[in-house]
This record gives sequence, structure tokens and C-alpha cells, in this order.
Amino acid sequence: MFAERASRMRVPMFWLGAVLAGALVALGAILSLPRGARATSDPPVAYYYPYNGWAAQSHAEGHDGYGASNFPTWYGGSAKDGGEDACSYSNRYSNIQSAGSISTSSTSSTAELPDWSSGLVLSYVGCGVSSSSRTLITTFMSSTWGGTPGYTYHNAATGSQCSSQGLSSPCGDWATTSQVEISWWNSASDSSRQKLLLHEWGHAWNLDDYCNGATAMMNNGISPCNWPSSGQYYAKDRDAFYITYGY
Ligand SMILES: [Zn+2]
Repeated sequence: MFAERASRMRVPMFWLGAVLAGALVALGAILSLPRGARATSDPPVAYYYPYNGWAAQSHAEGHDGYGASNFPTWYGGSAKDGGEDACSYSNRYSNIQSAGSISTSSTSSTAELPDWSSGLVLSYVGCGVSSSSRTLITTFMSSTWGGTPGYTYHNAATGSQCSSQGLSSPCGDWATTSQVEISWWNSASDSSRQKLLLHEWGHAWNLDDYCNGATAMMNNGISPCNWPSSGQYYAKDRDAFYITYGY
């Protein structure tokens, strides 16, 4: 089963510690609120997007990452790491587009993400993407670095990239890359392809694999935590987005 080969991202312990610390602070903020209530004010982006978050990308693309109409934006579809892009392959293009639409629709105007009325927005830009300046790259490989159908890793912003955005280092990722195994992709259904993309992009957003009972796109894919029959982000995934990025 491909599920047994669900990908894992590499997270240096320093970053893991920083993310966990941030998550605990955010969780404390959530727990201090009345049940069902969420804070509506937007803190500075450096707080909103803590270490290993999305600050650099959002700034780079002209979005500071907070506010109802100032949603995070990412891009995908470039060749990277010796892989292929989606330019000449309609089932790649169409499934990236579909997964992008699902990513947006399943995070728009939800109780868990009150600030993200527009949801997560993915813009597919296809050929000619500069991997040095774009945010989320989906690339197709004969084999991924993890030996799994999907494998996502983070490219932390350098000190000069941080300073170019007026930020002190560390300021988050400059780009994230989701590698997709071509042979797996070619034998999978469109539904499974889109689930793989949604799951890997969840890793790009710093969510980890999950297996604790709730239905989630970030389920690790190993029984009894198989991926849901319908590919989308669920309440548990949105809670994770909120804990990671919300306030
Ligand atoms: Zn995973």
C-alpha cells in the first residue's frame, strides 16, 4: 500500500523545538478564550508566522500574511531537484488545479480559521517559475528523496533573504518543495493524486503527520489512520493551521 510509504518531512530539532514552543503559546491563547471564540485582531506578521513559518514567502509575494483579504499565497508546478514540471502533462496540471481549489474551498470561511475568509490560495504558474523566488514548488521525480510517493522539505530563508524582506533572521522558509514520485502518480487515480498533493502541501505548511482518531488530511496514511475517502482539509487540519499560524 502506498499509504505505508507516507512521507515524512525532515525537521531539524531546533526548528521542531521552536515550532512546538510557538504552538504551546498559541494553544494557551486558544484555551484562554471563551469556548467558540477566536481573537480577531491581527498581530505583527513576525508573531503570526513564527519560526519556520510563512513570513518570508508572504512578504516576497507582496502579502504580509494577515488580514481577511491578505491571505497567504503560494505557487507550484516548477521543475526542481532534477524533476519535471507539469507543463506538458495535463493530469498534473489538472490535479494541481483541482487540489488547489479544494485547498481553498476547505479553508474558506471556516470556524477554525476566522481570519482566512479567502482560505489558502494556491496559484499554479507552470513553466518558467524561478525556484529562487517562489514559494511552494511541486516537482515530479523518478524517485523522491524520501523514497515515498510524496516528500516535502523546507528551504529556510538565508540571512540576506530575510534582510531583503526587512526581517531579522530566522524569518521562516523561503520556499518549500513537494516532490512527487512519477511512477506512483501515473498509476494513481485522480482522487488519490489530489489527496497526495493536499497531504504534502500540508507538510509544506508545517503540519506533521497525524494519527489520533479524528478525520484529517494529515492522517499519516497508515491503518487505522488512512487518508480520508474525500481529499480536503478537515476541522482537525484547520485546527492545526490555526495553532501554527493563527492568533
Ligand atoms: Zn505525511
